Amino acid sequence: MDDCIFCKIIAKEIPSELLMETEDFVVFNDLHPKSTTHLLIVPKIHVPTLNEFKPSGKVFELIQQLAGMLEQPEYKIQVNVGSSGGQEVFHLHFHMVSSFKLKSIA
Ligand code: AMP
Ligand code: ZN
Repeated sequence: MDDCIFCKIIAKEIPSELLMETEDFVVFNDLHPKSTTHLLIVPKIHVPTLNEFKPSGKVFELIQQLAGMLEQPEYKIQVNVGSSGGQEVFHLHFHMVSSFKLKSIA
């Protein structure tokens, strides 16, 4: 989608601290981290909110993989949905926030 900042990050038209890329997702650091680790897990297809997301176990597999890269697998997953739900970027993303550092990047 033309005006979507996350689509531009996925297309590498604007830079990000990209940590991982799979067939379906990219993972990059949030620009304004709320804790030691603050990742954004973003589907490559443009889906505005969780309400339009076709359920897939793949996101949970990825979350578990990322959890294994933390010094301890303790974290919070947050999805903001809609303006009043705190969503600012209307390309679905899962926040993964942890007070533990990433020990490795695969
Ligand atoms: P939300 O309020 O759930 O839509 O979250 C949007 C998140 O995207 C915020 O935590 C922002 O800090 C983050 N963000 C916005 N622009 C960028 C960017 N260019 N690179 C990385 N993170 C971004
Ligand atoms: Zn998009």
